[in-house]
Amino acid sequence: MIPRLKPALGYQEFLAALQPPRQDDVARFESVFAEMMGHRHAIAFPYGRTGLMFLLQTRDLKNKEIICPAYTCVVVPHAIVHSGNTPVFIDCKKNSFNMDLDMAEQAITGKTGALIATSLFGYPVDLDRLDQIRQRHPQVHVIQDCAHSFAAEWKGRPVQREGIAALFGFNISKILTSIFGGMITTDDERLCQKLRSVSGQVLKPASWRKDLRRLLYLVTVYPTFCQPIYSIINHLERSGRLNNFVQYYDELKIDMPKDYLESMCGVEARVGTENVKRYEDIISTRRSAAKYYFENLSRIIGHANGSHHNVSPFSIIAPGSFLLPPQVDGATYSHFVIQVSNRDQWLKKGIEKDVQLGWLIEYNIPEMISYGDHKPEEFPIAAQYSRTSVNLPVWGGERVAKRVLQDLCEDSFNEENLIS
Ligand SMILES: *Cc1c(COP(=O)(O)O)cnc(C)c1O
Repeated sequence: MIPRLKPALGYQEFLAALQPPRQDDVARFESVFAEMMGHRHAIAFPYGRTGLMFLLQTRDLKNKEIICPAYTCVVVPHAIVHSGNTPVFIDCKKNSFNMDLDMAEQAITGKTGALIATSLFGYPVDLDRLDQIRQRHPQVHVIQDCAHSFAAEWKGRPVQREGIAALFGFNISKILTSIFGGMITTDDERLCQKLRSVSGQVLKPASWRKDLRRLLYLVTVYPTFCQPIYSIINHLERSGRLNNFVQYYDELKIDMPKDYLESMCGVEARVGTENVKRYEDIISTRRSAAKYYFENLSRIIGHANGSHHNVSPFSIIAPGSFLLPPQVDGATYSHFVIQVSNRDQWLKKGIEKDVQLGWLIEYNIPEMISYGDHKPEEFPIAAQYSRTSVNLPVWGGERVAKRVLQDLCEDSFNEENLIS
């Protein structure tokens, strides 16, 4: 079984988790992370979404419109709503997973408080276009959501540095992990102080129970990502249990996790401090997997119908074909996402072949009942991505990518076989 995701954790993280707690565990994680991201400050939170919520509050944003992608992690609008503001959703740009910045600029009104620029799946947001928006609308706070991208670069410029602050998430499915947890990074001294003072007032200190819970989570979840526990993963997968670890939403509710106001705990911070040392390795591994897929996917599996730039809203992906994602310099490939016309069959084939294929992100937020039950046609590109995306494992670099394609192709896998 090749799992669809596998956190880059080694014995060092487990050792770190078991170290006796130190007063400055969280501060140390903040300081190494800030340095790594090239920011003066980093402030840790129990979740990325908690950080976003506080960030909006410290800018005194209340009853404002916050522009964000329709196609992003649903915790983002949840945090916007919990901060007392309203999300305004923007469809993806054609040929890109990221929000259409032309449409985003058009959506700016007198009530707009902030714009959340997300670099989805590790694809850097277009900073040239974003610069224009920032110049023309200096009152709109630009927040970089780097939960998928970490230090992705747009023409050599790291995205996380272009805005009032950047947001990161560290759950086990992210590029880097601290089990759970999130971080806001910024150069703005006053913003940092305000964030610290607000979170100091509102967040509960982490209890020893949280450390214990996180430790237990780590030791139970990690093995499910490892060889040779094939049968367990398969079982979890079939029974939907694996989803419980990474599934984080209920369409009907706008909610936050129970412990979203309990500070990051020492176990998380120590694991995170250890895990960030692997960053360069993790990114180069992902890039090499992506490179392998770009070079070999069309050759081995049936025929790609060219590339991503053929995507048009609701264009039917021709049966027997699939679309490759864009190839972008500076992308960090948190996910390698192709589009297929018949996702269920791909996923089924994957399970048969012991290759887990992911289907993240499988929703278009405005279509959710709690966000207005909009018609797919109103956000056609996000709607299409939400229905056609399949992601291939990237955590193991070229070696695992090669196995993925070999295993899938054992009996001449191609879309035509799938369809018939
Ligand atoms: C994971 C994620 C976040 C933050 O998630 P938390 O679970 O709250 O840490 C924010 N934005 C995106 C796009 C994400 O994928």
